[in-house]
Amino acid sequence: MRKKKMIVLDPGHGGQDPGAVANGLVEKYVAWEIAQRVREKLIRVNADVIIVQPSAGNPKSTTQDELYKPPQEANLLQADFYLSIHVNAGGGEGFESFVHPAAKDKRADMIRNRLHSQVMRYLAQYKIKDRGCKYANFAVLRLTEMPAVLLECLFIDNAWDAGLLKNTTFLHGLANEIAYGLILSLELEEG
Ligand SMILES: [Zn+2]
Repeated sequence: MRKKKMIVLDPGHGGQDPGAVANGLVEKYVAWEIAQRVREKLIRVNADVIIVQPSAGNPKSTTQDELYKPPQEANLLQADFYLSIHVNAGGGEGFESFVHPAAKDKRADMIRNRLHSQVMRYLAQYKIKDRGCKYANFAVLRLTEMPAVLLECLFIDNAWDAGLLKNTTFLHGLANEIAYGLILSLELEEG
């Protein structure tokens, strides 16, 4: 039997850091909801899924805590994979995914491509724009010692995207596809 894999989920922001806020939505809550649901969906696979959220233990956690503690903890845990979940803002629309530029064409990139296409297949039904597979020197991607991917799940300040993010059926469907994308890309097995 293969070694049980450990997956760290990092719902972006938390505590004193709400992330983006618009259309009656708060990024930290949307990210948390998605992460919880992804973990639930992975309960039957042979993997340890851990949500690392500094605000869970310290409601006053700061932006710095939320940014730097999850990668540190994932490194200490020697996790096999790291997924950071965010919601975008700033006047665009759609879904995009990131890996660190140094991970281009490496394992993290392969995992991301599989995950991205799985999620986009679902989102296309809702006419969500595919912003593409991207590379960025984000702190969580730079500081993690294992393959790491960051998802920007729609735009909180776009009316169409925000309407969908408020829809529980849609949001759970999105989390299901992220979970399924992880099962495929990380080759997780029913446990
Ligand atoms: Zn964010």
